[in-house]
Amino acid sequence: MPMFITPDYRPDETRYEQMQYQRCGRSGLLLPRISLGLWHNFGGVDSFENGRAILRRAFDLGVTHFDLANNYGPPYGTAEETFGKAMLKDLRPFRDEMVISTKAGWDMWPGPYGDHGSRKYLVASLDQSLRRMGLDYVDIFYHHRPDLDTPLEETMWALADIVHSGKALYAGISAYDPERTAQAADVLNGTKVPLLIHQPVYNMLNRDVEKGLLTTLEQRGIGCIVFSPLAQGLLTNRYLTGIPGDSRAARPQAYLGAGDVKPEVVARVSKLNELAKSRGQSMAQMAIAWVLRQASVTSALVGASSPRQIEDTVRSLDRLVFSASELQQIDSILAG
Ligand code: NDP
Repeated sequence: MPMFITPDYRPDETRYEQMQYQRCGRSGLLLPRISLGLWHNFGGVDSFENGRAILRRAFDLGVTHFDLANNYGPPYGTAEETFGKAMLKDLRPFRDEMVISTKAGWDMWPGPYGDHGSRKYLVASLDQSLRRMGLDYVDIFYHHRPDLDTPLEETMWALADIVHSGKALYAGISAYDPERTAQAADVLNGTKVPLLIHQPVYNMLNRDVEKGLLTTLEQRGIGCIVFSPLAQGLLTNRYLTGIPGDSRAARPQAYLGAGDVKPEVVARVSKLNELAKSRGQSMAQMAIAWVLRQASVTSALVGASSPRQIEDTVRSLDRLVFSASELQQIDSILAG
């Protein structure tokens, strides 16, 4: 038995019965309907043991897909380091059971080569990410956001060359609009590295993808993994009675602030929470089921600050179906 296996970690043998998997667009890759992102709670400022416990619990529940980016932390790069450490301690024997992704596209290091969409940045950034995670390759490498100042061909050819080099198995994009997504897919098709997946934001409070992106992805056979399906925690029971001290909105470096917990949002979520209860679900579970009702959404990419949260979230799979009346009620609460 290799030295890096800790004697106390044996994944749950029923894990693949607890999760559902869906094909990612027209590819051979199956993704779990619920994937775990390491944007928050896995940085150098966070407890390693808590992050490790979340990763273990997620894997025990059949979550096979873990999503990172070069600059997740804080500080930048430290979420990949945390993940690398957890791989070494617990998960490395299961590498072939895992889909690991990372990204480059936002600011990462100083100077002109640590941001945006140049070939120079993408290739160097992935090399750094692999070192931090202690991996030979990632499964999916993303361009994290569109860069209108770099020719699209340069960015897409860099992704394709990275795949041809074996440092990533598939290519993805994030936050591209429908038109640029179609152009990116065309360029990549010319390289024989199809665009596997798009990673947009989608939740009850942000429905932009319904205005064309989902149709584009479906028509072109591109998978879709939606980020922040809980609106960073707003679409849970977290903020129904104030802002808890251990919540994201209370953290100094988070992208969700106390000002985002608006009374009108809390009022809507309180009503949605009543509907969730009538479905026998937590608010978080209903919010996840709601994004997964779209056949073109391959996976909901969630965050978690404790093992209990990922457990709760995964149980959304127990009730994915909505009646027409429930969907109407949700629409009218959101419009109200
Ligand atoms: P979510 O919308 O799932 O928010 C996660 C937060 O919601 C948790 O940190 C926790 O908040 C709260 N929460 C989670 N589960 C529960 C539960 N069951 N009950 C109550 N509260 C719960 O996603 P994130 O915003 O964290 O984003 C997920 C991932 O998406 C990221 O890690 C990243 O991988 C990706 N992402 C990609 C982006 C891109 O540009 N491509 C941008 C943003 C995210 P609390 O901490 O307060 O407990």
